[in-house]
Amino acid sequence: MKTGQVILVGAGPGDPELMTLGGRKAIEEADVVAYDRLVGREILSWIPETAERIDVGKESSHHTVPQERISEILLEKALEGKRVVRLKGGDPFLFGRGGEELELLAEHGVPFREIPGVTSAIAVPAYAGIPVTHRDCCSSVHIVTGHQREGKPLSIAFDALVKTGGTLVFLMGVSALGAICRGLLGAGMDPQTPAAVVERGATPEQRVTLASLLDLPDEAARRQVKSPAVIVVGKVCAYAERFDWYDALPLKGKCVIVTRPKDRAGTLSDRLRALGARVEEMPCIETAPCDPCPELDEAIASIGDYAWLAFTSAAGVRTLMDYLDRTGRDVRALGAVRIAAVGPGTASELRANGLRADLVPTVSDGEHLGRALCEAKPRGKVLILRAVLGGEDLTHELERGGVPYTDVRCYETRILSPDGQALRRLTEAGAMAAFTSASTVRGFAAALGEGTDCSGVLAACIGKQTEQEARRFGMRTITAREATLDALIERIVEGE
Ligand code: SAH
Repeated sequence: MKTGQVILVGAGPGDPELMTLGGRKAIEEADVVAYDRLVGREILSWIPETAERIDVGKESSHHTVPQERISEILLEKALEGKRVVRLKGGDPFLFGRGGEELELLAEHGVPFREIPGVTSAIAVPAYAGIPVTHRDCCSSVHIVTGHQREGKPLSIAFDALVKTGGTLVFLMGVSALGAICRGLLGAGMDPQTPAAVVERGATPEQRVTLASLLDLPDEAARRQVKSPAVIVVGKVCAYAERFDWYDALPLKGKCVIVTRPKDRAGTLSDRLRALGARVEEMPCIETAPCDPCPELDEAIASIGDYAWLAFTSAAGVRTLMDYLDRTGRDVRALGAVRIAAVGPGTASELRANGLRADLVPTVSDGEHLGRALCEAKPRGKVLILRAVLGGEDLTHELERGGVPYTDVRCYETRILSPDGQALRRLTEAGAMAAFTSASTVRGFAAALGEGTDCSGVLAACIGKQTEQEARRFGMRTITAREATLDALIERIVEGE
């Protein structure tokens, strides 16, 4: 049997955007992924469904899986011919025991690679507004472990460190914080030297504690600082307040539940995250094509009879593209038909498939789409491709305008029930739910359980129909000014 390989991948400190392109690719192509506790959930969601996941949950002294065993697992899986990714927080070779894990592989001649990661030692201070060096105040930076082997004193050369005059970054130092600060003071460091502890840096839960070297242990104790945290000592900490870009993001400290289907959640989630929000993806619906769909077969076969093709959602566009692909065709099968899209999201899905929408109404709903089509005075029939449960507004307008149409219901929206307990916990803790359709509201409410009081839920709704549905369940609502993701995000930032 062919030997597999092991790729040691650095996952960065928390923010999924700090994963390298190579690291993400390795995860997406893996047969087995063994990961640590510090690796974020978002990154874990890139692991293919078919891949085996092994949580080796290492944390300081209480290892879930002993180090030797981890190395053996990597070896065993590689010898089975698997492509194994060993995913570690930050950079694998910086206090990550990455080297130890490679030894056994090297001994057995198993091929391996290492994809460095963005280390918390530099990125976590950066997210707290602390540049680890600055020409005006230091010419070096030193990364030190504060980890104490059980029963042993800290083995840090404080004298030497203080002499460098450089920035000092301590990892794994929370439990030894007092001893570290005493050591530095004992070696003659100025007690007023600015210092910081950054907990859970580069994540939505980041918390920064700033104090002088002298006061840092007391301040940290008062705020009950917990691991994982990076300790920074040096003049550069004085920049933290002025350069505090991450904590100043508009959605920092907020949690948003994204309820769209998994394949559609991406852009909304990424954009909310970029604004500092903690995002919980809890898909409440999924779309599935009606298969077989004789009405669709017939409509596409006679596409020449239609003047317009109208889409009421991006899912409709994808359903058609998948259908054409499945039946061995492509967009050329659509001929010269003109295309209408209900809104910008649908139009951009069209564009992604090489099609341009000829018409997008100013207001993104069925009624306005219908009216705009009537105004376009079609010289022929309109073909509507939409969901089984689509409403009557669009067809009603076409009928009023005397425009003939064929209404093909080619995909269904299925309500999924995400984990109700998890949803309840999140909303009780103040998370808001973002709804991009009435059906996502129904899925959400169903997950909470029939008759649950939803008055504690703040629903951010993309449009009127969604809002009505959320109100029906007793939720508090905020609604986008127009039915676009941009407007929804804007409204979420404004808050209640
Ligand atoms: N290889 C990792 C470090 C592993 S040691 C890296 O390069 O980042 C684990 C220590 O890293 C933790 O005790 C903590 O000091 C630090 N750490 C990792 N992620 C962190 C985060 N998001 N916020 C604060 N500290 C973090």
